Amino acid sequence: MMQQAEEILQKYYGYSSFRKGQKEAISHVLHDRNTLAVMPTGGGKSLCYQIPGLSLEGTAIIISPLISLMKDQVDALNSYGIAATYINSSLSAGEQRQRLQDLRQGRYKFVYVAPERFDSPQFLSTIQSIPLSLIAFDEAHCISQWGHDFRPSYRSIVPTLYQITNLPVLMALTATATQEVIRDIKQLIDVPDESIVNTGFARDNLSFRIIKGRDKRDFVEEYLKARPNESGIIYTATRKDADSLQHYLSNKGFSAGKYHAGMTENQRKQAQVDFVQDEITTIIATNAFGMGIDKSNVRYVIHYSMPMNIESYYQEAGRAGRDGEPGDCALLFSSQDINLQRFLIDQSPSEEKKKEEYAKLQAMINYCHTHTCLQQYILDYFEDPFSSEPCGKCSNCTLVGEVQDMTLEAQMVLSCVKRMGERFGAGLTAKVLKGSSDQKVKQFKFNTLSTYGIMSNYTEKELTRFIHFLTAEGYLTPGKGRYPALQLTDESVTVLKGDKPVEMLVESTTAKHESNYNAD
Ligand code: ADP
Ligand code: ZN
Repeated sequence: MMQQAEEILQKYYGYSSFRKGQKEAISHVLHDRNTLAVMPTGGGKSLCYQIPGLSLEGTAIIISPLISLMKDQVDALNSYGIAATYINSSLSAGEQRQRLQDLRQGRYKFVYVAPERFDSPQFLSTIQSIPLSLIAFDEAHCISQWGHDFRPSYRSIVPTLYQITNLPVLMALTATATQEVIRDIKQLIDVPDESIVNTGFARDNLSFRIIKGRDKRDFVEEYLKARPNESGIIYTATRKDADSLQHYLSNKGFSAGKYHAGMTENQRKQAQVDFVQDEITTIIATNAFGMGIDKSNVRYVIHYSMPMNIESYYQEAGRAGRDGEPGDCALLFSSQDINLQRFLIDQSPSEEKKKEEYAKLQAMINYCHTHTCLQQYILDYFEDPFSSEPCGKCSNCTLVGEVQDMTLEAQMVLSCVKRMGERFGAGLTAKVLKGSSDQKVKQFKFNTLSTYGIMSNYTEKELTRFIHFLTAEGYLTPGKGRYPALQLTDESVTVLKGDKPVEMLVESTTAKHESNYNAD
């Protein structure tokens, strides 16, 4: 069976060997075991259902929440000489009917549909009347309510699915799944433990960087100048930012397009085509862009401001380097980014949801302040089963500077937090440590604390950064609510007792210059 799979790989796709995890996933499906494949973006998930689909009898149904991706997938299959189509709301009723009829006659090996298609009695009766090879859930994290991109309609097809009398083997594929999401998918579509294929999330060809304290527009301009012919995406947090940055860059003569939900469908389509076909080198976009973009030679993804959570960040940044060649992922951080994300989270009507989102946002903020390897930080966040070495190329791994013992300073901060009643955020704490005569400091009588002004030799900004560092490293926790209320942790107790040193790599000025300015 696996020999046939290898023959298909060579004959249809022209590839000589399988990538990590592909063979295993294919083998499980061919042995009729429901299978979950967790592989990074660009890992080659499509082949994991396409090859079984080609070797088994009957038609494969691929369920995807991304209507925009279906056409590309189908075009790619057709170009290999494989009979494939899609049925979705972008087609006229007549076209839909025609394709259903062709499907009934067994004309297709692959049919792509959106989850809503399972509400259609015609579709259900059609697939019950033909031999099916498999049913695949692409972007399977969307069926889990623990996922960051939960689609209720995706989840609700599962019961319908189990009423199908000729139910074939099921397969789920995703690039972003925490252990929670994996458990959820496994239970929902009944995947035995032994057929969960998880290759981990590491993207060895990507370099992650955090850039702080630079004018963002200047940074981008310099960056694009240094990489004139390379394709890349710049994500902004708002449409307004996308508009103005694109305007600015075009005026400067850069080949830059834009993409956001405020544009007409035609404009968006055109921008996407221009980018995919290398008519424009850079696209400035909101997070509306990317789902379903199949462009393998994206060399960089810049985040113009911090996104809402690590899941979105990794998915967006992960659009770089899908061809396996190096990709650069730079995040431009400024503390105002946090307020915008909080504001967006506040729009949610559910208190429960808000709490969750704040916690996720905090993990994102910590990412911007941590001194550990950025790739490792992300892998730890996803509880990647394959613990790895530091990547050696992120902005933390390559930071040049000297390790300084900051135990005493940490103790001052921690005891100040304690004296302030563990009810306030980094900003006010920094003011107290600095000895500021701010109104709020006086209002709470913090100018009478013994820690008032004990770190006056630092600037407020430096103090805020140091507090963020302590938070990112787990010496402080910001609490769970809307406004961070710094609290001590078990770790901080050991520091206060003097049982644990706190060390921090302090960037030397020349090194700072290099790590911020050099693209590589
Ligand atoms: P994913 O869906 O996991 O992001 P894709 O299925 O789109 O990834 O595959 C990414 C790229 O890798 C595609 O261009 C695909 O043709 C290529 N690819 C997949 N499997 C192999 C393989 N075994 N050998 C070489 N290239 C492969
Ligand atoms: Zn690293």
